[in-house]
Amino acid sequence: MAQLIDGKVLSAQIRAEVKEAVSKRIDSGKRPPYLAVVLIGEDPASASYVHGKAKASAEVGIRSDTMTYDADISEQEVLKIVERLNRDDSVDGILVQLPLPSHIDDRKIINAISPAKDVDCFHPESVGNLVIGLDGFQPATPAGIIEMITRSGIETSGQHCVIIGRSNIVGKPLANLMLKKGIDATVTVCHSRTKNLPEIARQADILVAAIGWPNFVTGDMVKEGAIVIDVGINRVDDASRERGYRLVGDVDFGAAFEKASYITPVPGGVGPMTIAVLLQNTLMAATS
Ligand code: NAD
Repeated sequence: MAQLIDGKVLSAQIRAEVKEAVSKRIDSGKRPPYLAVVLIGEDPASASYVHGKAKASAEVGIRSDTMTYDADISEQEVLKIVERLNRDDSVDGILVQLPLPSHIDDRKIINAISPAKDVDCFHPESVGNLVIGLDGFQPATPAGIIEMITRSGIETSGQHCVIIGRSNIVGKPLANLMLKKGIDATVTVCHSRTKNLPEIARQADILVAAIGWPNFVTGDMVKEGAIVIDVGINRVDDASRERGYRLVGDVDFGAAFEKASYITPVPGGVGPMTIAVLLQNTLMAATS
């Protein structure tokens, strides 16, 4: 039977650390860190993420402003907004909530953000620094996973980490963090074209699922004693819930729980860690 890695508890630790650092900063006469958030359109999920980020920022003493714009804003206008925020010395971190409406090229907007203010760690310069192992902003979800593992006292050196999913926001940056000196895992990345995926998954000491497919990882894909990190957030119909659905991860939790040594729940696992790392990044942006 596995031990639960509680993302709520661990993220609360990080938030408390950021809060203390922010309060020391203010005590020393400096202004609070300032995160500028750009939200375009009315996607309810994006609005809810942005609300969560603003609330978490306020709780640790980080100032954050959400600038909202209609979905029909032009790409040129968004670029101008980003440039204005880049020039504004009072702004430490800039976050443009993705996805953007289809007439705006996400990549153009991300590339326009100053790397010094790129708290999402999506700019090619930030990603390059990550790949070559330089210090800098950390990609929120992957860094949250590393925090969960290391704060739980789990050994990573020489462990075989199998990551299922190769997205730019989870799979690929996590592979780089796992390879980093000090973490020192041996990494395999699987994706939709991988052959013999269950067989590879069974070799994992640390198995990370970031696919977006409920119950993709079945019990027979988990090695006895493995550490299972479930990144997925999926809605499945559930008539017994008032809202008509519940959230599940990519792992068959019940089956994996029986075999794993540690496992993250969904919800309450990786999710809360993501915002905590964003706060760490914003503090770093203000101090560097
Ligand atoms: P994505 O859609 O960009 O990538 C999914 C990946 O899964 C792809 O690389 C694809 O190759 C792989 N995949 C798809 N089908 C596969 C198959 N049959 N076999 C093997 N691999 C397959 O998704 P993403 O943005 O990386 O997100 C993945 C999941 O994690 C989603 O459920 C998302 O909601 C969740 N997520 C959670 C957090 C968090 O904070 N907890 C953050 C980001 C994403």
